[in-house]
Amino acid sequence: MEEMEKKFHDECAVFGIYGSPEAANVTYLGLYAQQHRGQESAGIVSSDGEDHHMVLGMGLVADVFKKDAIARLMGDIAIGHNRYSTTGESHIKNCQPLAIEYANGYLALAHNGNLVNAASVRAELEERGSIFRSSMDTEVISHLIAKSAEKSFLPRVVDAFHQVSGAYSLLAMNENEMIAVRDPYGFRPLAMGKLGDATLFASETCAFDLIGGEYVRDVEPGELVHVSPEGVKSFFPFQKKPHRHCVFEFVYFARPDSIIFGESVHRIRKGFGRELAHEAPVDADLVIPVPDSGVPAAMGYAEESGIPFDMGMIRNHYIGRTFIEPENRIRHFGVKIKLNPIRELIKNKRVVVVDDSIVRGTTCKKIIGMIKAAGAKEVHMRISSPPTICPCFYGIDTPTKGELAAANFTVEEIRQFLKADTLAYLSKERMLSLFKNGGEDFCTACFDGNYPIKRYDMDILQPELFEYRR
Ligand code: AMP
Repeated sequence: MEEMEKKFHDECAVFGIYGSPEAANVTYLGLYAQQHRGQESAGIVSSDGEDHHMVLGMGLVADVFKKDAIARLMGDIAIGHNRYSTTGESHIKNCQPLAIEYANGYLALAHNGNLVNAASVRAELEERGSIFRSSMDTEVISHLIAKSAEKSFLPRVVDAFHQVSGAYSLLAMNENEMIAVRDPYGFRPLAMGKLGDATLFASETCAFDLIGGEYVRDVEPGELVHVSPEGVKSFFPFQKKPHRHCVFEFVYFARPDSIIFGESVHRIRKGFGRELAHEAPVDADLVIPVPDSGVPAAMGYAEESGIPFDMGMIRNHYIGRTFIEPENRIRHFGVKIKLNPIRELIKNKRVVVVDDSIVRGTTCKKIIGMIKAAGAKEVHMRISSPPTICPCFYGIDTPTKGELAAANFTVEEIRQFLKADTLAYLSKERMLSLFKNGGEDFCTACFDGNYPIKRYDMDILQPELFEYRR
């Protein structure tokens, strides 16, 4: 239980393919395209109709799967997973897909999202003798499926999901069936596609682009898609809930070339920048993004304000996202090795620097220091999302309230800490105005604390998540 308390946050990518002789190869590529959603570990499970085959490893997709590894993954069905984890245990036992053998054969799961009642369901299961080998809430689902009194795979999975609550975009498979399921709120994305006769699933549509697949539609919130030798069938077995898609996918997480929740990530991100230019204009000579996450918003800001845009900082692409480093010490160092300003562009200029979000504020402070050291006359920081004031329990890693800069300090105090000449955030209202129905289908808990699902275990097991610094 102690381990579990440390580890509630996983952001991940899933990929699945049903009915292709190249299943493992395609899954490898599907994970490769979604590397941004998780760099800690990667795994693929395939099935040849009788046996399943599994390769899991710590690190990046290209490091985990060598040619011989893919050759071992035989069969026409496969699911894969990239894991992204920033706190708690970084260990092979927490890699996915999670595969188990049980009375009905074998079962593999790949999960993106967080269950909000995993700890209490796990405690109940443990009381009844279940033994857990990892700290993943996905393992809770595997136990529920294995323990179900239902006979076949599909009703067992439905039964399991009736007992859990939270965010899940999940792929499950056995010897010859695959199930894609998305929670009724639709927190995390899950797209469905086609590659010839094969059915595809992926967290983001950019995975389909790489393999030459076709994006067909999203798995709907509350939908369960069952793929078997009998074909593809759709079910809606859960109670209907209001849709609550994660707006932070648009702010930071998803790749700009993906279609998420029916919208182009690039178009929305650029729109955030345009809105920000209206809301927080400033007299300046140059707009520069914090690459890569700030690029579309900075383009939007520049277009709308008429201030020239340039890439004032260059990113070293050969290191991972600094945020994934578990130790603070390494993260601080990471900013320096990751970004370098182009002095010639910046010198003696009044610069608008656009980034997508401020979490702890440490990255931003270093960037502003770097740009000033490169000779900028003024630095105007513009953030293309509202202040992040609350932790997320539905699959985006955010630190505790105590660590979130905007949960503890006013915008003016943050400006002083960052040593920016001005600082402004995009308002929630303007952000949501870019979506249909004024964004009522979105979860904005990280910006306003309105959690669509009660926090259950978090309040009891992790009270420190909600403690302010002062
Ligand atoms: P910080 O130093 O904590 O303020 O980090 C802010 C930077 O982290 C921004 O440039 C964001 O692009 C990035 N960021 C925001 N949210 C996340 C997240 N959940 N995981 C990783 N990076 C993030």
